[in-house]
Amino acid sequence: MLSVTEARERILSHFHATAEENVPLIECANRVLAADIIAAHDLPLFDNSSMDGFAIRAIDSATAASSVTLSVVADIPAGSAPTVTLAQGQAARIMTGAQIPKGADAVIPVEDTDFNDRSANTIAPQTVSFTREVKVGENIRPRGTDLHTGEVVLQKGRKLKPQDLGLLAMLGFGHVQVYKKPRIALLSSGDELLEVDAPLTTGKIHDSNSYALASLIENAEADVLRLGVAKDTRESVEGLLQKAIHEQVDLIISSAGVSVGAFDFVKEVIESKGKLDFWRVNMRPGKPLAFGEYRGIPFIGLPGNPVSAFVGFEVFVRPVLERLGGQLDGIRLTVKVRCGEDIESDGRESYLRAKIRNENGIPIATLTGHQGSGNLLSLVQADALLIIPAGVKCVPVGQEVDAILL
Ligand code: AMP
Ligand code: MG
Repeated sequence: MLSVTEARERILSHFHATAEENVPLIECANRVLAADIIAAHDLPLFDNSSMDGFAIRAIDSATAASSVTLSVVADIPAGSAPTVTLAQGQAARIMTGAQIPKGADAVIPVEDTDFNDRSANTIAPQTVSFTREVKVGENIRPRGTDLHTGEVVLQKGRKLKPQDLGLLAMLGFGHVQVYKKPRIALLSSGDELLEVDAPLTTGKIHDSNSYALASLIENAEADVLRLGVAKDTRESVEGLLQKAIHEQVDLIISSAGVSVGAFDFVKEVIESKGKLDFWRVNMRPGKPLAFGEYRGIPFIGLPGNPVSAFVGFEVFVRPVLERLGGQLDGIRLTVKVRCGEDIESDGRESYLRAKIRNENGIPIATLTGHQGSGNLLSLVQADALLIIPAGVKCVPVGQEVDAILL
């Protein structure tokens, strides 16, 4: 039997990042950078005011224990290019974000002056008076405080967050070099499976895996090609896989037909034009797993039971999609939670469905009921999958375990 880590490493060794493309910035949320982003200019690009007020020479405020009056020689709204150079005794009205004029080295906010008026369209006063000393640099955001030209601001392999898009826009990147989204074909198989809107007849069930798995794939920033449900015939399986070949997807995923004794045509078809290894992984749920290749396209066969298929996706497929998508920072973070009850395990690495409640700031986990691999409701009710390590048969109440938050 393979350990979970061995199985994952074996699978991952067959994948590398997809090709790159250049994408408009607005479409780049959650896309993965294919090249480092290097700042072409400083941020901020120019010294600017962090307040609405008056740009002054700090030295002119040195006598402000009494009162200082300066003559206002310019008005600098945000977005304008100041042309004045302040001389002794002079000030310029200035707005937040506007460029500091030459000669000025501080800004006194309007509320600290005798001209406390920031309504739009008010004409700047002839003079401004105040009674406090202003330090050099006060209320000025100097050029380059945030970053300098030439700095690597975002690294290749980073999945772009909304705030990254803001920074890229600040730096003028209208298009960004990212990896193509991986394209994944998804197949369900089994004569018992009916489409979701077909009326149920004796012995039949709806195909549910292709819905949960398609959603997981999209959630992992890949595109999904739903092949539908293959009947248990060679022709049916071959016919559906043909679509995946035609589309030249990056990976084919199927569910069902990997357990011992399965009456399975997926196996036969794949082996006829590729190869398929059947593994037993030391985990629960989801011990059986198939990995191989069909006409040059990698193939992962997940178990058919809905919870096993879900867990198999999280443990094996998500890391593959991250690698295909070029992601370097894609470690699935686990959190520590405390068991709210004694938890039995069978010595395999177990992924158990649990609800998490907050008790005085401590996350407490209790199982959501029946842990059978077909019991999807207990997964629906769960907030997390608790990871009970291989070799552990009992985790006593109060002990901490790792959990994947769902
Ligand atoms: P198998 O791996 O074919 O032995 O299937 C294991 C269990 O998973 C059986 O109870 C199947 O009916 C069920 N199953 C297989 N595929 C699906 C699917 N796409 N949706 C829901 N249940 C499935
Ligand atoms: Mg089956």
